[in-house]
Amino acid sequence: MIPVIGGSGFIGSHLVREALFRGEKVRVFDRAPYPEDESEQPHEFIRGDLSDYGLPKDSLRGCDTVFHLAGIAYLWRRDAKDFDRINRQGTENVLKAAKQAGVSRQIYTGTESINDLRTALETDSMSLPLIQKMRVGSFILGQIIRGRRRFPLVLMLEPLFRCNLNCPGCGKIAQSQGVLNTEMSLEDCLGAVEECGAPIVSIPGGEPLLHPHIQDIVAGIIKRRRFVYLCTNGLLVPQKMHLFNPSAYLTFNFHIDGLQKRHDSLVDCPGAFERAMSSIRLLLAQEFRVTTNTTLYAGVDLGEVARLFDFLTELGVEGLTVSPGFNYEAASAADQFLQRQDSREFFSRLFSLARGRGWRFNHSSLYLRFLAGEDNYRCSPWGTPTRNIFGWQRPCYLLPDGYAKSFQELMQATSWESFGNDRDERCRDCMVHCGFEPSAVLDSVSHPLKAFRAAGSLFRRREEIS
Ligand code: SF4
Ligand code: SF4
Repeated sequence: MIPVIGGSGFIGSHLVREALFRGEKVRVFDRAPYPEDESEQPHEFIRGDLSDYGLPKDSLRGCDTVFHLAGIAYLWRRDAKDFDRINRQGTENVLKAAKQAGVSRQIYTGTESINDLRTALETDSMSLPLIQKMRVGSFILGQIIRGRRRFPLVLMLEPLFRCNLNCPGCGKIAQSQGVLNTEMSLEDCLGAVEECGAPIVSIPGGEPLLHPHIQDIVAGIIKRRRFVYLCTNGLLVPQKMHLFNPSAYLTFNFHIDGLQKRHDSLVDCPGAFERAMSSIRLLLAQEFRVTTNTTLYAGVDLGEVARLFDFLTELGVEGLTVSPGFNYEAASAADQFLQRQDSREFFSRLFSLARGRGWRFNHSSLYLRFLAGEDNYRCSPWGTPTRNIFGWQRPCYLLPDGYAKSFQELMQATSWESFGNDRDERCRDCMVHCGFEPSAVLDSVSHPLKAFRAAGSLFRRREEIS
């Protein structure tokens, strides 16, 4: 029997439907009735208020997993105490009942904004629209129900390596001219999206806006109800933005590595920063979603990064993505990359400056904790599989160690255990989000209270230390 607390809600009813489809017995607890128009109904339904009375005695006995999806998801209530009563006290009641019944796994899904409104608004690291949070959350739950140990969260779709910039240290444009002149077809791109099934598709480059069919690729992905992150250096946006329509499914993700002087120098193009900022303003004025991606290199100045994040936040970007630059094989400027300990110290100091500045990171709170050296993970490169003109790249976006012909072959025939910081010398300093964000997200699912605490305390504790 699978108990689903909050099984009548949006994510809950999706989970129940999936479990019933798989032939599981399902018991739903909720204050609201289970939707009548669902063709299949749960085997048992218990109506009640989690916060006042907790779960009925013995209701979890004999279950080895409980799914807890109940909570207030609104951003405002007349009585703010409702958030504490239902979200915190209710969760404590579930955990107590699970402990008493000897339930070995508790899976919690919600948003950080239903944990503690004030904390969430100040330190909301997941600045995503609710629909994206819910879709990704229900995708992860579906994979867990199916008993999958490895599954993709973000497809890195590289339709071409060609770029209109020539950044020193970029491994992508170091390819031969023949490779740079080649691109994936529309059919191959959409085929990869179908084959992989990840709920998010990131399109890095090269510069994807140089692809002659980029608008059809993006439209095809959105038609499949996947969320697209279209990476760009911003230079071509004014000429190409008319090809796209604003949508919750489409985000322009700008590559911005510093304030004007540093960014222009890193991309070796005077004026690149100003042009990118002007493109961001154009997109925001048209109500497109915009995020930024900042790679931090050796010698990076803490104060400058803080000022950059202030600037981007004030400009109105939705979220900040950060990653320490990583010394991967194809890069030609290895000494520019941060070593692991340097990265940890840098992020720890950076987060000490974050509180009260409104920065919204496009990462899970546990990945930020990992960057600050407060946790350690093995990487999960299968969480962000890469498809490019050569095939499915193994093991990850940054380490080209061969190619599989299909997604299935990539997942099944890759020796995943051979890679990671302690297993492959080339991985030693890697902390990039495409390898470690999936590990952090899965840790959040397995240890929801840890994720809650991290969301509320990372920036606060850092401030006290500083
Ligand atoms: S903008 Fe990106 S893809 Fe283009 S050269 Fe620079 S790092 Fe490489
Ligand atoms: S640590 Fe993982 S994500 Fe990083 S390069 Fe190695 S395999 Fe890739």
